[in-house]
Amino acid sequence: MGAGMIPFAVQRFFYYAFKKGTARMFGCIFCQVAAGEKPAARVYEDDLCVAFDDIHPRAPVHVLVVPRRHVASLNQGAEDEALLGRLLRAAAEVAKKKGIDGSGYRVVVNTNGEGGQTVFHLHLHVMGGRFMKWPPG
Ligand code: 5GP
Ligand code: ZN
Repeated sequence: MGAGMIPFAVQRFFYYAFKKGTARMFGCIFCQVAAGEKPAARVYEDDLCVAFDDIHPRAPVHVLVVPRRHVASLNQGAEDEALLGRLLRAAAEVAKKKGIDGSGYRVVVNTNGEGGQTVFHLHLHVMGGRFMKWPPG
C-alpha cells in the first residue's frame, strides 16, 4: 500500500506525532509499559525514560531502561545524544537504587538480529547481583 492510500488526516497525525517526539508504535509492548497501560514494576522514571524490572530476569537484578518515545533500536536513536546520555544516567541511577553500584553491574544494548534484540523498542539491560561472565555469549 503506497502513501497515497493513507488518508491525509492520518498522515498529518503521524507526522506531528513524530515531529514532536511523542510518537508511539501501535502494538509495541514497551510503548505500552511507558504509557502505564501495561503493568511493570517501575524502578525509575523521568521525562525522557522509564525503567522497570525485566519480566524474565537473567540475573538477580535485571532492569530495562527505555525511552518514553518509540525508538526501534540504537540505530535509530544514535543521533539523539541527549536521550542516550539520559538513558545511561538512568541506568546508573537504577544500579544505585538496586544497591549494585558498588558490587558491579553490566549495561547491555542488544541491536537487531545477531545482536539478540527481540523487542524493537530501544532498551538498556541493567544486570547485576551476580558475577557477570566475559565475553557474553
Ligand atoms: P532483548 O532480547 O530485545 O534485548 O530484550 C527484551 C527483554 O524484554 C527480554 O529480556 C524480555 O525478558 C523482556 N520482556 C519482554 N516482554 C516483556 C514485558 O512484557 N514486560 C517486561 N517487563 N519485560 C519484557
Ligand atoms: Zn515502542
